[in-house]
Amino acid sequence: MLTTVRERHAIIDAALRLSELGLNKGSAGNVSLRLADGFLITPSGLPAAELRAADIVFMLFDGTAEGARKPSSEWRFHRDVLAARPEVGAVVHTHAPFCTTLAVLGRGIPAFHYMVAVAGGDSIRCAPYATFGTQELSDHAVAALADRRACLLANHGMISVGRDLAAALALAVEVESLAEQYWRALQVGAPNVLPDDEMERVLEKFRTYGQAAGRD
Ligand code: 13P
Ligand code: ZN
Repeated sequence: MLTTVRERHAIIDAALRLSELGLNKGSAGNVSLRLADGFLITPSGLPAAELRAADIVFMLFDGTAEGARKPSSEWRFHRDVLAARPEVGAVVHTHAPFCTTLAVLGRGIPAFHYMVAVAGGDSIRCAPYATFGTQELSDHAVAALADRRACLLANHGMISVGRDLAAALALAVEVESLAEQYWRALQVGAPNVLPDDEMERVLEKFRTYGQAAGRD
């Protein structure tokens, strides 16, 4: 009996949801979840609909994997983001269509809409291209995620992180929606970008937005 069966099902549910939402298709993308002594990650090359609890791979931070399946080819950036960011509990990677459209153009998302602050800063960066599954890609991803909870990956897709799977997944949806809006605006002209001082105000308001502690 797997002791982490609940966590394994939470990963499968997140992967299924990413497919249902159209953010991933086939076996594109991957999901990881921090545990006390390592992390769980989706296996490589299996579509979400086929995943069973035993297919989810347990890994240690030294890259050792336990289980019958090979871990996601992107285990390095999952491992490195979880290692670099103690506040992060879950990492989501997708080839979401609008994020990927911008990423193949090498374009990040500027402050064209105040909601860009949802990813933690005044832009969502696009990490330079590197071959999938490499340490180079992981290094670029960790750098692009500095002070942020999401980034695009050039000619590839996007990454979002959160304190738990629900937060990382919700952010992936939000970033895809921003990417779609930005792409649509680009079809018509040059979107207005909010000035730095306004984004500072927005970022400050985000600290207490919604049900977060504190009131306006
Ligand atoms: P895996 O199936 O190995 O997780 O790879 C999918 C992917 O998105 C690679 O970047
Ligand atoms: Zn990918």
